[in-house]
Amino acid sequence: MLNPATSARRAIPSLDRLLQLDAVAGLVARYGRPLVTETARAELSALRAAFARSDIAFDESGFVRACVARLARETQPSLKPVFNLTGTVLHTNLGRALMPQEAADAVARAMTRPVNLEFDLDGGDRGERDQHIERQLVRLTGAEAALVVNNNAAAVYLTLNTLALKKEVPVSRGELIEIGGAFRIPDIMARSGAKLVEIGTTNRTHLKDYAGAISPRTAALMKVHTSNYAIQGFTAAVSESKLAELAHKHDLPLITDLGSGMLVNLEEYGLPHEPTPREALAAGADVVTFSGDKLLGGPQAGLIVGSAALIERIRKNPMKRALRVDKMTLAALEAVLRLYADPERLAQRLPTLRFLGRKPGEIETQARRLLPAVQAALHGKAVAEIVHVKSQIGSGSLPVDLIASHAIAVAAPGKRRSTLAAEISAAFRALPVPVIGRINDGAFIMDLRCLEHEQEFVEQLKHLDLGDINA
Ligand SMILES: *Cc1c(COP(=O)(O)O)cnc(C)c1O
Repeated sequence: MLNPATSARRAIPSLDRLLQLDAVAGLVARYGRPLVTETARAELSALRAAFARSDIAFDESGFVRACVARLARETQPSLKPVFNLTGTVLHTNLGRALMPQEAADAVARAMTRPVNLEFDLDGGDRGERDQHIERQLVRLTGAEAALVVNNNAAAVYLTLNTLALKKEVPVSRGELIEIGGAFRIPDIMARSGAKLVEIGTTNRTHLKDYAGAISPRTAALMKVHTSNYAIQGFTAAVSESKLAELAHKHDLPLITDLGSGMLVNLEEYGLPHEPTPREALAAGADVVTFSGDKLLGGPQAGLIVGSAALIERIRKNPMKRALRVDKMTLAALEAVLRLYADPERLAQRLPTLRFLGRKPGEIETQARRLLPAVQAALHGKAVAEIVHVKSQIGSGSLPVDLIASHAIAVAAPGKRRSTLAAEISAAFRALPVPVIGRINDGAFIMDLRCLEHEQEFVEQLKHLDLGDINA
């Protein structure tokens, strides 16, 4: 039994009384009553639990401080900026392509003002939302028509659901891809209602395999760009033009899923070649699908380009409504496509191309500039050094081609090197703007290829807390 004096000292005020404290009233003005009440209640119940365990006294200012901290945590945005130092330029988990300011401005306008989203300003009647990007896509790809849906998975789904419902589509076994996050060609085909007919083998598929699979039940031939792996050695695949010829001989369309699909020739920017929708269409493809937020460098979207008749059929599919993009996506996409009208300045204006085009020497200079600040922030608990690394494009683009880059590697030498690398990584993730790197060979690696906002990076290093990792 507690003696009465102790219980009096330990008595916890009621929630109502606590809510009347001046300091708490200040919180109500800032965060609103419901959230502050909920927070005070949660803090009180935590206190009651603590009181049951040990002999402590109620402390009013401590209570308020705890509420302030809890409110700050609760009201932090969940989606927030991070530093992508993973070395993967188009990192799906970190939001893929970064967009230029032009796109951000266009989105802000579309969000805060009424816009002619589906309104024809000439005729004064109903318009078509895809029209805002169709002319530009037609010009950039040579297609007759274009439309846009939520992402490339939706583009593939809608195309197959329109052109091949309950019918067969032969696809090479070498092209039955899985993309991260569980996008699998066989699964999406099944859901679209198209029947996949697997042909050829993993490493070799010939024209006669396609020819042998064509029957009255066939709706289309399909080619999938194996965007995130390469088959090497004893291989054979059928070119788009040969496949198109065969398809057209049988009055069938050729569908090509390009995945990334860059709108310009990357070789002109000193990068490895990536197939373009223009090339696929020129080779005879009738419908080509690709992503808006991979190499193209725009918002998440799936672009479908091709012949006017087929695009019109796809547009009329009732599922288009369920997969259509919103005005923000259209605004961003239109602004990004506009940059492609000026290829000479594209490399500077489009963040994806700017990151991919950075020269190793320039990144090394940046690493030398930053090394002392990183070293100082480690307080002797770990060692930082500059290392050669290879960046990758990511999001299934150009899987084999790695680009030379430089990184700052942080490691705590010793037998526990590997465990400590995970702890170092966690400490960088806990910074106000979390730093996401990768762990390799017992070191935390920060590839600087995508590091902009350098000043912000340096300034927040003072918050780096490695704790007692060497203990
Ligand atoms: C990435 C990719 C997809 C899926 O595209 P999302 O835009 O991520 O939906 C489909 N096919 C291929 C070949 C891809 O590379």
